[in-house]
Amino acid sequence: MNGKTDIIVVGTGASGLFYALNTPPNKRILMITKRAVDESDSYLAQGGICVLRDTDDYDSFFEDTLKAGHYENDRASVAVMIRSSPEIIKNLIDLGVTFEKENGELLYTREGAHSRARILYHEDLTGREITSKLLAQVKKRPNITIIENMAMVDLMCQDNCCNGVVASDGTGAIHMYQSDYVVLATGGLGGLFDRSTNLAHLTGDAIAIALKHQIEVENISYIQIHPTTLYSRKPGRRFLISESVRGEGAVLYNRKMQRFVDELLPRDLLTKAIHEQMEQDESDFVWLSMQDMGPEVIKNRFPNIFKHCLDEGYDITRECIPVTPAQHYFMGGIKVDLESRTSMAHLYAIGEVSCNRVHGANRLASNSLLESLVFAKRAAIDTHNHYNTSAVLKKALQLDDYKDLEQLKSDYKKIILDEIERSKVIERIDKA
Ligand SMILES: Cc1cc2nc3c(=O)[nH]c(=O)nc-3n(C[C@H](O)[C@H](O)[C@H](O)COP(=O)(O)OP(=O)(O)OC[C@H]3O[C@@H](n4cnc5c(N)ncnc54)[C@H](O)[C@@H]3O)c2cc1C
Repeated sequence: MNGKTDIIVVGTGASGLFYALNTPPNKRILMITKRAVDESDSYLAQGGICVLRDTDDYDSFFEDTLKAGHYENDRASVAVMIRSSPEIIKNLIDLGVTFEKENGELLYTREGAHSRARILYHEDLTGREITSKLLAQVKKRPNITIIENMAMVDLMCQDNCCNGVVASDGTGAIHMYQSDYVVLATGGLGGLFDRSTNLAHLTGDAIAIALKHQIEVENISYIQIHPTTLYSRKPGRRFLISESVRGEGAVLYNRKMQRFVDELLPRDLLTKAIHEQMEQDESDFVWLSMQDMGPEVIKNRFPNIFKHCLDEGYDITRECIPVTPAQHYFMGGIKVDLESRTSMAHLYAIGEVSCNRVHGANRLASNSLLESLVFAKRAAIDTHNHYNTSAVLKKALQLDDYKDLEQLKSDYKKIILDEIERSKVIERIDKA
């Protein structure tokens, strides 16, 4: 046993870091993360983060979120997210995050299915800007310890109460960390798919562990496909061509170089239209053109996309690029309430791994970073308000259960994929 701490946060993406920063300094926090501290999807976010610009925009922001989510969203979660957004942006700015400005005023961009420009951004590297600034603040806090390359392989729990985490380091050695609370901030599950914009190590481990311990999950088959990722024959992660590119005027062409769709449709509808077009064209991709924006706008507004495409052999200031849909985001997850409490006592889930149904059946662009931060902060406040120590484990854990980690990994993958299939069948029956 590696001793006891107050709170364990699993994952160092935006949600985990923001939870830690919103916890009072008298609590000892241990953060563990499966890879290097900056290897999270939060670092990859390009487009931006939504905010309620003024009270006049409330109804329209609310409706855009619901419409994109096919009205399957939890309205209370949506209201909390939107109303909290100005405060969260202020918190970020106070922590050193910078967003684009003109003449001292914040600039806003627009993405698919937004009826108004309400997205703050930092070049096309918004996630890196936010997450690196949060991490810099976390590193200054003496009450927070981070251990890298330490993967959670199980939860320690008894009588539906969580007492800690079982984890494996890079060498395969098993560590047991006891705590009063555990916060799951492990992100999505794109690593389970061949074509995904997510980092490959994000394999939904917490979802499998939740299913194993009968912790409630929700909307497990709600997986978002992003319509535009750079087409490549190479295996591995797919490079995202952010929605804000289309928000700023990029257009899609079929094989005959004709436009075939409204580029600002919600993600799921645009993905469907692109798939249909690819079938008609008997092609693995469609074309995306940014040329009308002009070279200066492209290079200043989307420097990272410009550079990446150039490295792949495409000069987006002068030519179209081939794009194709790929797995991108997980709307389902571990079921949580408005304070991010799971169905197990002393266990919270925040960020992409959790499901408070804020996104419904399909996430509106740039609502994810916002949702992660809003509900991470609420979880931190709730932990503080109701803090009590967890019971000591009555029974020792069987280390033999974690002897064959490769087998465990494949068992976890099977648990998740089986549950996704099972849930799709139930959905079809419910809709019949
Ligand atoms: C390419 C890309 C672009 C995006 N652009 C935007 C955007 O513009 N705007 C927006 O709002 N959203 C965007 N998103 C979505 C958004 O980035 C994520 O949903 C959000 O950052 C998730 O944050 P998180 O803290 O929940 O998880 P992550 O940031 O993914 O962090 C997960 C953490 O958990 C760790 N972890 C996972 N499993 C384990 C384990 N078993 N043990 C220990 N640690 C573990 C990981 O190592 C990582 O540290 C984008 C996503 C991608 C992939």
